[in-house]
Amino acid sequence: MSRYISTPSRTKEILETYGLRARKGYGQNFLVDPIIVERCALASHCEDAVIEIGPGIGGLTEQLARHSRHVTAYEVDADLIPVLKDTLAEYDNVEIILQDFLECDLDGKIRELKEKYGQVSVCANLPYYITTPVLFRLFEHAEIPYITVMVQKEVGDRFAARPKDSEYSALSVEAQYLYDVKKLFTVPGRSFNPSPNVDSVIVQFSRKETDRSPEEIRAFYEMVRACFRQRRKTLLNNLKEYLQDREKAEAVLNACGIPLSLRAQEADAEMLQKVFEEISR
Ligand code: SAM
Repeated sequence: MSRYISTPSRTKEILETYGLRARKGYGQNFLVDPIIVERCALASHCEDAVIEIGPGIGGLTEQLARHSRHVTAYEVDADLIPVLKDTLAEYDNVEIILQDFLECDLDGKIRELKEKYGQVSVCANLPYYITTPVLFRLFEHAEIPYITVMVQKEVGDRFAARPKDSEYSALSVEAQYLYDVKKLFTVPGRSFNPSPNVDSVIVQFSRKETDRSPEEIRAFYEMVRACFRQRRKTLLNNLKEYLQDREKAEAVLNACGIPLSLRAQEADAEMLQKVFEEISR
């Protein structure tokens, strides 16, 4: 194992050889714990094809390449491309694409990978400054059954929060409407080079079996955001604003068997789904 890219000594050596410094602007924190990196890859259901966002110097990419038939990795930092060519030279199942992930043709890539290899999953140590936009971009794709990502602990807590938790928000409901969200394990700051001040967590999103259209998902999200506008207030109060009609809001909640005194932060994804269906009738 001493030769893996994600060992502290090999990472240090690679950074020195190429005169690299982790770029804060790109959210670069390289994982230097080979046990955690392999555990993350193994948990990701990457057997067929896997997409990685931000391979860095290749620590996680290497473990994905060992366990998957094909790895596609999007990296935005051009300086890392020659490094990755070297560090991953022995793996012929890795495609590195120099591009901002938020701008790539994700539909086209998923279609291509599915045809060639089968199931497509996502595994990444996400750059913290675009965690939420990356995840919401992925959420639009029902063809990705598993998304396994390392994120800052506080962000992971928000996605996995349950009703009444202090971190529970529209974000939690939006994720849990489409996925079973599970925190797999925490990763201490010392497992990175450079070490951030905060701990991270590996979160797995497993897609629920549903046939919701993108339009339906968008409309549901819009309603959920309105319901959480003032999350300590009652659901009725928020819904009244959203529908611009107090009587209708009361009738909807009554039809769903939801108490009029329930606070927004106490409503789970299933309740809000019922409300949405009642409104859409
Ligand atoms: N995967 C490596 C690891 O675990 O050691 C590096 C992870 S580091 C937290 C995030 C990586 O994402 C960096 O390599 C950074 O350059 C890259 N990155 C940042 N913004 C990106 C974007 N918009 N599209 C693709 N990659 C991006």
